Amino acid sequence: MVSRIIPVEDFDLVIFGATGDLARRKILPGLYRRYVAGQIPGSARIIGAARTRQDDAAFRDEARAAIREFASPGDDASQLDDFLNHLGYVPIDARGTDGWDDLRSRIRPGVVHAFYFSVAPALFGDIAQRLADHGIADQDSRIVVEKPFGRDLATARELNAVLARHFSESQIYRIDHYLGKETVQNLMAVRFANMLFEPLWNSLYVDHVQITVAETVGVGGRGEYYDHSGAMRDMVQNHMMQLLCLIAMEPPYHFDPDAVRDEKLKVIRALEPLHPAEIVRGQYQADGDEPGYLQDVGNPDSRTESYVALKAHIANWRWSGTPFYLRTGKKLRARTSEIVVTFKAPPHSIFDEVDGPRSNQLVIKLQPNEGMDLTVMIKEPGPGGMRLVQVPLDMSFADALGANGKDMPDAYERLIMDVIRGNQTLFMRGDEVEAAWAWTDPIISEWEAGSKRPEPYDAGSSGPEEALRLLHRDNRRWREIRP
Ligand code: NAP
Repeated sequence: MVSRIIPVEDFDLVIFGATGDLARRKILPGLYRRYVAGQIPGSARIIGAARTRQDDAAFRDEARAAIREFASPGDDASQLDDFLNHLGYVPIDARGTDGWDDLRSRIRPGVVHAFYFSVAPALFGDIAQRLADHGIADQDSRIVVEKPFGRDLATARELNAVLARHFSESQIYRIDHYLGKETVQNLMAVRFANMLFEPLWNSLYVDHVQITVAETVGVGGRGEYYDHSGAMRDMVQNHMMQLLCLIAMEPPYHFDPDAVRDEKLKVIRALEPLHPAEIVRGQYQADGDEPGYLQDVGNPDSRTESYVALKAHIANWRWSGTPFYLRTGKKLRARTSEIVVTFKAPPHSIFDEVDGPRSNQLVIKLQPNEGMDLTVMIKEPGPGGMRLVQVPLDMSFADALGANGKDMPDAYERLIMDVIRGNQTLFMRGDEVEAAWAWTDPIISEWEAGSKRPEPYDAGSSGPEEALRLLHRDNRRWREIRP
């Protein structure tokens, strides 16, 4: 199968924070890969901006090193050299006055203008203001903003208001890189381009849904940031709620940005308030010489959660009675992100000897390997009578799509190309982000006001015991966390 690469329009992309970690690991390597794929026109320009004083040549050297480290460019150096010729750099302090006129002089009229704010959110307002003051951005420019988008409803509203002073909603691209994953988009294709699943996609046929985002790493060097955030803010409010919306939303009338985002918003608004008895918080413990969460963040009194599991209820016609269980945590048994839709068991079995589960499961795997897996019951081969076994109908995209599957663009690559194309479908709208905070805020405030500590759990486990009980109480169990 040959996938078509459709080049985007000519563009000037300015990356604020071009010397930072995200630019080095994701943005620059991603742009390089799209260039090699033939998607970036030969005249496009990428301009880095940050406070570090350096010239174009020094920035290109930095970009070369980043691409070598994170994009495996192979032995052919000529394509990398060609790509680097598209790069320039302007030293700019987001809060200062220097450099803005130089930046303006580098922006060409008549091409797409995109400004990637890969800096701390506290600088968004300063950059937006200066882009407007210096006549660099106009009503056709696009801006890309990174997470975290606020730390609660009030700060998200403030950020939305700051950006709205200079940009309309149709110009703002709020990144949630989970939405750029191939499987996440495939989820919409599977649901809405096939007749097979949609008639069963409701509480009559779906017993429950599990969404798991498990990491093996601890907080690493992000201890201070993480301790002010926690799993609920860092993972649930954005990535996991976005996944929940895509699973639960009604079919949009068209695959159009606002049609899709309207349906996602309706799901968030239909979420019942979280019940404290249906949420488990955890913190990984020290293990011998291995530091625990409290040592990692350098705060022995921290009550911030590195793990959260919860049961969510969507109060609408389609989902009433089908719980959605979400869990995410650090230092767990394996690194995996997946969604499991468990269908109900057949109402009656005509077979006498059925051991074990009889429910079909659709497993949508986001990482490490993207793909889908549908478990079905079949007859066990052989002459031993009518014995049933559960087997997976496995579809790994890399296998199904051959070479194209192995070479799937990373989420950032796809999302940046969508910005240039002017397609906001896979970006969060301001009202969605606010509605998501409105759902998580009350429970976070309750935790912060209380004195209860998160449940301890062992590094390398699947989380606190209490999280297992959350499902056992409902006669269900979590799918095992495995790579
Ligand atoms: P970082 O490594 O700390 O880089 C920050 C960048 O901002 C640097 O290029 C820095 O360069 C620049 N900067 C700082 N102050 C500035 C100022 N006053 N004016 C102009 N530039 C300034 O941060 P990061 O990890 O790249 O993250 C960037 C954004 O992406 C943040 O909002 C973060 O939350 C978000 N994000 C990052 C990741 C990730 O994997 N890294 C993942 C998700 C979201 P100078 O020091 O040269 O000015």
